[in-house]
Amino acid sequence: MSNKSLLNIDNLAVHFPIGDGLMRRANGYVKAVDGVSFSLEKGETLGLVGESGCGKSTLGNAILRLVEPSAGHILFKGQDLAALSPQALRQARFHMQMIFQDPYASLNPRMSVGASVGEPLLVHGLLKGEALRDRVISLFERVGLGREHIDRYPHQFSGGQRQRLVIARALALNPSLIVCDEPVSALDVSVRSQILNLLVELQRSMGLAYLLISHDLSVVRHISDRVAVMYLGRIVEMADRDTLYRQPLHPYTRALMSAIPDPVSRARRNRQRIVLSGEVPSPSNPPAGCNFHSRCPIAKDQCTKIAPILELKSNGTQVACHLVE
Ligand code: SF4
Repeated sequence: MSNKSLLNIDNLAVHFPIGDGLMRRANGYVKAVDGVSFSLEKGETLGLVGESGCGKSTLGNAILRLVEPSAGHILFKGQDLAALSPQALRQARFHMQMIFQDPYASLNPRMSVGASVGEPLLVHGLLKGEALRDRVISLFERVGLGREHIDRYPHQFSGGQRQRLVIARALALNPSLIVCDEPVSALDVSVRSQILNLLVELQRSMGLAYLLISHDLSVVRHISDRVAVMYLGRIVEMADRDTLYRQPLHPYTRALMSAIPDPVSRARRNRQRIVLSGEVPSPSNPPAGCNFHSRCPIAKDQCTKIAPILELKSNGTQVACHLVE
């Protein structure tokens, strides 16, 4: 992890208290994110995958301080976000934006889409009048929409066009990092790759870094440079994309990979489908030791007692598993 990275996440935790009784005193915690560390370089895409409820969206929200971390540090451009004054944090947020899954919910249905895209510039007092309209037009063009769309309303657009509008709005303040939370899961399969290709093109032209959160391994593979796999609030494996997809090491990653509906490549890799038994345990009561042991097909006695730490292996992959050499 380099201090020169755009983003450094160090041992980040988000624990939500579980209240009880009239005084709502905490009698336990949901450990949504539990000691996560990684870095992200300028212009890089880190894919974050895992089943729903594994904490990946909470992690994205914590990075943007939409939820308060319980512990750990978030360094953005070398600044610890927790130590910033409210005004400095607002400034830092200019450079960190988020795209959500549902583009319709991200746009005000009563506002013209031009007003929605220009709103961040207006609210922060950066542009108004003709200058604002010109900037909105250039943002529309950047995401492949013509200026004739500016005065229309969200319901007049398709899902793919709406996601383009949300991306245009996210670009308004010239960010260097965009957290993309399931950016194409609500879209028709036919337009998914168009939006992913747009994200790639914008990254190349603007030097953007993405944290791409998705449950879909094919989406993550499409645009990520590196991939981190999360299970019950922790990263269990992290590697560059090609290494991870060619040679997954952690038993959980292997099970996820084996479920990709791609019979040709699965046959080529001679990979058997691995079906995990049981449900994901509750993050309010994760198993002791390795938190995957209750579903792991190769768990040993030590796995129930000692939590493995994320360690660098000879092929450059970081893995948290006692049995991976
Ligand atoms: Fe499975 Fe044990 Fe490795 Fe955890 S540490 S993934 S339980 S083998």
